[in-house]
Amino acid sequence: MLEILRKTIKAGCQTTKYPAVPDIAPEGFRGKPEISDKCTFCGDCIKVCPPGVIWFTEKSGEKTLSLSYCGCIFCGRCEEACGYGAIKLTQEYELASKTKEDLITSIRSKL
Ligand code: SF4
Ligand code: SF4
Repeated sequence: MLEILRKTIKAGCQTTKYPAVPDIAPEGFRGKPEISDKCTFCGDCIKVCPPGVIWFTEKSGEKTLSLSYCGCIFCGRCEEACGYGAIKLTQEYELASKTKEDLITSIRSKL
């Protein structure tokens, strides 16, 4: 027992202080996808998204591209398929929310 205690004290703290101190995800981490204003509303990302969490809506001459983080599996296929560099996975991983609506991101375009 004393030996275990001695080794533990010698090793020191091996965990991070997250969430008190922000923990940065490593390079190449597949986190929250974000859509930028480079989007041309071509729809290619919609066709390749395995769980179908990207969709178009049209209303009053305005086209909206929406993405829900609820069902996103962070596969990165949308980023690969976008020929305009308009959708990118980021290093952001904090997605806790009280409502599903808060987990939807959208970008709008005039038709
Ligand atoms: S994010 Fe890229 S692939 Fe998706 S609709 Fe916009 S331009 Fe097309
Ligand atoms: S990362 Fe995968 S699951 Fe998430 S929106 Fe893109 S294609 Fe869909």
